[in-house]
Amino acid sequence: MAVTVTKIPRPDRSLWVQSYVPEVMRGLSITSKQFFKNLFTKKDVVTIQYPEVKRDYPERYRGLHRLMYRDDGQVRCVACMCCSTACPANCIHIEAAEHDDTSIEKYPAVFVIDELRCIVCGMCVEACPCDAIRMDSGIHTHPFYERDTAFFDKPALLELGGPSVAHQGGDMKGVQGHH
Ligand code: SF4
Ligand code: SF4
Repeated sequence: MAVTVTKIPRPDRSLWVQSYVPEVMRGLSITSKQFFKNLFTKKDVVTIQYPEVKRDYPERYRGLHRLMYRDDGQVRCVACMCCSTACPANCIHIEAAEHDDTSIEKYPAVFVIDELRCIVCGMCVEACPCDAIRMDSGIHTHPFYERDTAFFDKPALLELGGPSVAHQGGDMKGVQGHH
């Protein structure tokens, strides 16, 4: 079997090349060209003046969590613990409580999410059978300067919440992707 040999010329090892001067000059010329192009034409500038200017988030962007309401204004969550069980970061803490009328589903007396520990995977939203927790608040998780402020409790999560489009009993008619 014939063996093909490809000859690769040796690199230019002249003193001029080994001094790096030509390559440094070439790099500087590319950088300068781009700098002046951005300075005078603002063409292809991808940075924005955040926070004065904000980008529109995509429809499915996962932002801060929120808890949804039932038709009667109560929190939809029934403290089933599906979300906290599914959470890979173990950052949801729920304490379930019973209504006086035990025929009514449970509710979360305590519902806290550690937003600093959250990895924004969305598993909690996927796991919830009641459309009780969502991440479509459109608010991205901001920096926290004190550790305690990263814990979002039930009132904070409800403040971002809203009425669910799901009907009681799990009927999701009218929700995109559900029939
Ligand atoms: S988004 Fe993921 S990490 Fe964050 S609370 Fe939900 S399940 Fe946990
Ligand atoms: S938010 Fe949903 S999954 Fe989590 S405990 Fe409440 S009902 Fe269950």
